[in-house]
Amino acid sequence: MNTREACVNADLKDPLAPLKDCFDLPPGVLYMDGNSLGVLPKTAAARAAEVIRKEWGADLIRSWNTAGWYDLPARLGDKLGGLLGAREGEMVVTDTTSLNIFKALAAALRIQQGKHPARRVILSERDNFPTDLYMIQGMIDLLQQGYEMRLIDDDLPLDKALDDSVAVMLLSHVNYRSGYMHDMAAVTAMAHERGALAIWDLAHAAGAVPVDLNGADADFAVGCTYKYLNGGPGSPAFIWVAPRHTSDFWQPLSGWWGHSRPFDMAVAYEPAGGIRRYLCGTQPIVSLSLVECGLDVAHAAGMDEVRRKSLALGDLFIALVESRCADHPLTLATPRNHAERGSHVSLRHPNGFEVMQALIARGLIGDYREPEVLRFGLTPLYLGYADIWDAVDILKDVLDTRAWDKPEFKQRSAVT
Ligand SMILES: *Cc1c(COP(=O)(O)O)cnc(C)c1O
Repeated sequence: MNTREACVNADLKDPLAPLKDCFDLPPGVLYMDGNSLGVLPKTAAARAAEVIRKEWGADLIRSWNTAGWYDLPARLGDKLGGLLGAREGEMVVTDTTSLNIFKALAAALRIQQGKHPARRVILSERDNFPTDLYMIQGMIDLLQQGYEMRLIDDDLPLDKALDDSVAVMLLSHVNYRSGYMHDMAAVTAMAHERGALAIWDLAHAAGAVPVDLNGADADFAVGCTYKYLNGGPGSPAFIWVAPRHTSDFWQPLSGWWGHSRPFDMAVAYEPAGGIRRYLCGTQPIVSLSLVECGLDVAHAAGMDEVRRKSLALGDLFIALVESRCADHPLTLATPRNHAERGSHVSLRHPNGFEVMQALIARGLIGDYREPEVLRFGLTPLYLGYADIWDAVDILKDVLDTRAWDKPEFKQRSAVT
């Protein structure tokens, strides 16, 4: 597609184009940061009002039973699980991704202590999202059992790192910075062959790429609902456990919501039989309820169609940047190969931070990640081909005119 008109025509033929109308998008904004915070589904405001005014305001405590609050983590887990290759009863929506990493890691390490008691390595990736690495470090410090973290990188490839000292491997399916995507089934098979368990962080995969947790034979998975699933800022995360492990051990955040009979008010902890044991305390019902609004749109689209369009948008973005911004020092940090690419495209530029601030000032919202990385999220539910054309137009203009080279674009805020 070398003209805007061709992009407009592609939008007219796009089966996902009507779904853009399911979202409240601010006028004058091209939003390419749905990989960090998804947009607002139109149904969310009415749903929030219903939960607050009717379920909380009018029905009060009765709503735990009458409005289905008590079962909400599991019911939403089933609905989300349908997009990720999980079966009913295998997933709950609860807590944060960081907390769910703690639970999954603790359970996986305990299972391995029974099977391979000498193994003391937790394997991850130097380029993984920092919270994953921080949670591993915190767990090692808490356990005081001689565990160590090993990180794969350019010098230590997975095949070499995954030896018989590895107890648990924790990887992100799609890398938050580069957009690189692991082959979940192949990497999990390699981990299993060598006696390790595989925990997958799906933060940048859920709602973005097709995932088949059971098909890939994964052991545990966690991830966010506020990115590609449009659940709202800080909406609860999810955790999935392969049914073969659910009853092997219970996670150590053994709060009353994971008890088999919480309202017995018993002194002794006795974990619930299934995935409910991965719950801890009382759930944030207002925020949790809104997760469903985003999930409904994702189901209406279907993940295969989302993937097809996401790759097409990515190919178009890369081709237009390379042809129209060729005289600028931009390098592609994301794999071209479809099998290795998630749903965002990252470009490096020596003045990446300033360039992104200038783009945002023009209404093109992406984000910036150290070092020098401009990230552009491709969210097929509400971005079209003409949007990609317009985004590259803005990028080209900001670079051609050096509009980024101003003192106000060098100021750093708390959140980039
Ligand atoms: C966004 C992201 C998280 C976020 O974790 P929170 O606990 O929700 O803050 C975790 N892991 C990865 C890989 C992410 O991309």
